[in-house]
Order: sequence, then C-alpha cells, then structure tokens
Amino acid sequence: MRRVLESKRGIAVTMAMWFLAVLAIIGTSFAYMMRLEPMIARHHQEGVKAMYVAMAGVDKAYTLLGTDSPIREFAEPLKDDTGTTVGTYMVKMYPLYLFALQGGNSKQFFRYNTYKNEWEKRRMQSTPREIGPGGALAGDETDFFYTLRGGKTKDFYRYEISRDWWERKKIASTPRAIGWGGALVHWYEVNYYECPECGFPPKYDEPGNCPVCGEELDPNISHYFYATRGDATTEFYYYSVDKEKWTTMATTPDKVDKGGALAWADGDYLCPVCNHASSTSGTCPNCNRELEKFIYALQGGGTTGFWRYSLNNNQWQKYRCPECGHISPTLDNCPTHDTPLEMFIPDTPASVGEGGALTWAGGNYIYALRGNSNVFWRYKISTNAWEGMASILGEIGVGGALAWDGGEYIYCLRGANTSDFYRYEISKNEWATLPSVSYKIGWETHYASIGSGGSLAAGDLYRIVSTGYIPDKDNVRATKKIEAIIDIRPKARYMRRIIYWREIPKD
Ligand SMILES: [Zn+2]
Ligand SMILES: [Zn+2]
Ligand SMILES: [Zn+2]
Repeated sequence: MRRVLESKRGIAVTMAMWFLAVLAIIGTSFAYMMRLEPMIARHHQEGVKAMYVAMAGVDKAYTLLGTDSPIREFAEPLKDDTGTTVGTYMVKMYPLYLFALQGGNSKQFFRYNTYKNEWEKRRMQSTPREIGPGGALAGDETDFFYTLRGGKTKDFYRYEISRDWWERKKIASTPRAIGWGGALVHWYEVNYYECPECGFPPKYDEPGNCPVCGEELDPNISHYFYATRGDATTEFYYYSVDKEKWTTMATTPDKVDKGGALAWADGDYLCPVCNHASSTSGTCPNCNRELEKFIYALQGGGTTGFWRYSLNNNQWQKYRCPECGHISPTLDNCPTHDTPLEMFIPDTPASVGEGGALTWAGGNYIYALRGNSNVFWRYKISTNAWEGMASILGEIGVGGALAWDGGEYIYCLRGANTSDFYRYEISKNEWATLPSVSYKIGWETHYASIGSGGSLAAGDLYRIVSTGYIPDKDNVRATKKIEAIIDIRPKARYMRRIIYWREIPKD
C-alpha cells in the first residue's frame, strides 16, 4: 500500500497549479486580493477568503487520500505564513461509486455513480467465476475489493479498481467452502505512524507531526477481512492482506445460515462488560477492563441471533454474568458464581432470513435488513438496543444487500431476483427508489436480477465537500462550501486528478 505515497509530492504541485487556475478564474490571486482589501466590499472579500480556506481543505483531503490514512472527516485551522489563523476548514470525503455483484450464479459486476445517480452504462469486467450463495464483496478503502465466491467453493478473488481488473486466479482459498450466510467484512489496524519525509525508522505510536521536520505523520496500516463460512456451520476466519493467508478464529455461538451478515463498527472503543464508550483505547473507568472493538453479526437462517466479536480477544460475546460481568458466547453458568448468565447482546426483534444484511453507518448505529420482508432496523450501540425504522419500498429477498456511502445515505439492493435499488436517507428516516441495476449494450438496456450472493460495497473516486469558515468580524461570519470530485486511483494510466469542482450554494 505504500506505493500510493510515491506520487504524493507531485499531487501537491498539481493542486497548487489547480489553485492558481481557480484563482485566475475568480479574477485575481489571493495575495492580490489581500492588497486590495480596503477597496473591496467586506462581504465579497470575506467570501473570497472563505473560498480560499475551503480550497485548502480540498488540498488537504487530496493529500490524505493519497496515503493509507483512513481519515474521511476532519476540521482544521488554516494558518498564513506568520502563523495567524486565516480561517477553518471542515472536510468530509465520500466514496463516489458503489460496486455490486449480481450473484445468482452469474459473473456480472456493476458500478453505480452516486453523484450522477446512474449505473455505469458500459459492461464492467466480470468476476473470474460465477458468484453463488454466500458470495460477498468488501473493499479495503484503497484500490481493491475482495470477494468470496460462495456457492460451496473456497475461492477468494480480488478486484483492482484502477484497472477495472479482476485477477483471473483466486488469490487465496478459504479454509473450508463458503455457502449460504457466508459474509465478508473489512477491518484495518494502524501499526504505527511514520514521517513521509524523513523515512523510517523512527516509528511513532501516536498521530501528529514529525518532531524532526514537522511534516504530518502517516499511519502504517494492515488490512484484514473477516468471514463467516455460513452453510449452517459456526466457522469464522480472517484473511491478512499482508500475509496473504486465511486463519481460523473462534467459532460463532451458533450455526450461520441464509441471511447471515457481518459489520465492523469503526467507532468508539467499548467496555465488554458495561458498554462504556471511549474514542481512544484504554481501560474502562467502571470495570477496569480493556476497551475493545467489535464486529457485529446476524446469524440468519430464520433465527433472531445477533452477536458481537471482540477483535482484541478473539471472543464472541452474547451473555453476561449479572454479578461479575463474566462474558460468554454461550448460555451457561458463571464459572465464578455458578449462577445463570443473562443475555447481554440483544437478539434481533424478529427472525432474519434470506437477504439479511448489516451495515455500520458511522457513530452509534448499525442498520439491518431483516430479509424476506420490508423490515428495516437499527441497533444502537450505546444503548445496546434495537429500533424499528421506516419500511423498505419492496420486500427484500436473496441477494439483498446494504452499503453505507460514508455520508448521509445507505444504499440497498432489494435482491429477490429483481433489479430494484433503493436509497435510505439517514437523517430523514426515508427511503427513495433509484434507477434499477442495469447496463447497456448498444442502445439496449439490460436489467440485472440480483440473486444469492448479490452484494454491494462503496469505494473508488472520492467526493470531497469542504466548507471554509473565516473568523467573526462585526458579527459577519463568511462561509463558503465547495465540492470536488477527485480521482485517487494510483495507477499512471489514470493520473490522479480533479474531475470536477463547484461552489455549493447556500441552503
Ligand atoms: Zn520528518
Ligand atoms: Zn465497563
Ligand atoms: Zn459471575
């Protein structure tokens, strides 16, 4: 993944040139604007400053996207040469594309542009072999998607976004064959931070700036994919991208089947005993236990099973001793107190079947498709409880899938051998119908019926929304919001570039 960094300096130069071009379009350079200060009406001048601040935010996002950094949202002050704060930018980065596997023993693969709201017209490169039950797609947030083929095979494939290229041979075999309920989820770990200028060593434990040259430190990251085998088994594995190898982990509390699903919540660290949340790792102030991060799982197969898996302890969690906080994946008696354990991680409100799916949507919520119905729920991490949400516009079936875009929306494939596609607006608790899954050959539109193993994942190009704020002056607070779409694909053929930018008008 380090190779992504190589062209970073070049990008900064490109960005600077882009800045100049934009400023030229505005009519003058920023420095010149500053000299003209007294002559220009305050609102106009501050607007230009705010625009400059917002563009600096885009520049920062652009640099960040060229590294392995998982940061997709930040706010920072912009300082001038004298160290005076000019303003503050707030930046959010959203993946622009969604990728979908058709499943249902087909090789077809699709791409949806969330900005244009349309499916890619040309036919995408197809998967090496047919995707069947338990087929699953997950991205590593850089240039690759990984795929379980499912259909009672051990095949595991990789797709390279920048080349629209599926590696023709499987990259590794899962320990056993994946079937119904097979699921795949990405997880990463920051190993250390290092200076992009000074090279390494040294390695630093915390993010920040290089004590030698002042450059911002880059995270060194390892990527992992966790998978349930499904097919009415309890098997659970992970794949290390660095080691190119699968490893068998703790078995799930019960057998995973149709509608089984996984989601990683990359939010707060939680106490395994009392659910105390903290944005940093450490120990729980109440229980003195080490805080953990979790993968959440639906059991599927017409059950209400819902569990979480501790990435720190390779332990599935479901039940808890009311007296001492002993945690167990199974309902037995506490080894210390010999009293019966109680359910800690709550079951889903109703049984989950074909098309069951999970997606973490940032912060406190994990959203879920019940499958075989139009029922939609969310699990609130902080209160450890389920809530019913707005009904989906069609009944979900085999191949039903969810993907969060990193922003305001969750996208949903209905599956059930239909090409229906929906979007959920998180803040409004509202569903909308989007164009059906399709591609074109000549003038003819072909619709894809999504079946078992159908899946959806976000990735690739980034949409960057940057808001520039400049400090209060006479109660006038100028803000400008700009949106840029940036190609971060690292390969030379697709040179990283600004594809599009515009100023977003005020609401
Ligand atoms: Zn340095
Ligand atoms: Zn605690
Ligand atoms: Zn106990």
